[in-house]
Amino acid sequence: MSHSTKSLPEHGHLTACHECDLLVNLPHERVGYRLKCPCCGYVIVDTRYDALGKTLAASLAALLLFIPANLLPIMAINIGDMGQSTTVLQGAQLMWQAEYFWVAFMVVLTAFIVPLLELSLLLSITVLAKLRRGMGFVVSAVKVYQKIRSWGMLEVYMFGILVSIVKLVDLADLVVNGGLYCFGGLLFCSTYAAASFDPHEVWEIVDETKH
Ligand SMILES: [Zn+2]
Ligand SMILES: [Zn+2]
Repeated sequence: MSHSTKSLPEHGHLTACHECDLLVNLPHERVGYRLKCPCCGYVIVDTRYDALGKTLAASLAALLLFIPANLLPIMAINIGDMGQSTTVLQGAQLMWQAEYFWVAFMVVLTAFIVPLLELSLLLSITVLAKLRRGMGFVVSAVKVYQKIRSWGMLEVYMFGILVSIVKLVDLADLVVNGGLYCFGGLLFCSTYAAASFDPHEVWEIVDETKH
């Protein structure tokens, strides 16, 4: 395979192809192009669509869903006269009372604190990057986001909820509440926000505002 560099822009930053490690120049323009690796054809950057705007919209939607997802009960379990409806935090509280301290702590951390922090970081990064303001904060926010993102485990928690529904459905009178749908929506939007987030786009804006 020949490493042809024709039609590549003269200035800009160098980046490595994720597939074949060929170094290519990135155009100076931030949006509106798609760069394919001249060697292997891998799409290195695609800025034809507004990725930052997508991340902004998805993280905002997820943050809005975060409120009902955590306030509305996810499911109600009725065993005899003892009806009980729970939210994520009430679930953690029950585990705490049952002396499953570590489990309760992990639920609060991975299903509440980290996702909330992640979404707030994504929203503030994208809003500030769009406004070209607060670049110092943006740089640290991206770094913090990249460190904590593996600690958010909404999907694991969602899976746990589904497993318990399947298990309990025969044992108890189980009512799935609106909170579950909000939680599902939250999971979808936050996954979309994380998937559409392109830190490179942010670094480009940071560079741009320095000139
Ligand atoms: Zn760059
Ligand atoms: Zn390549």
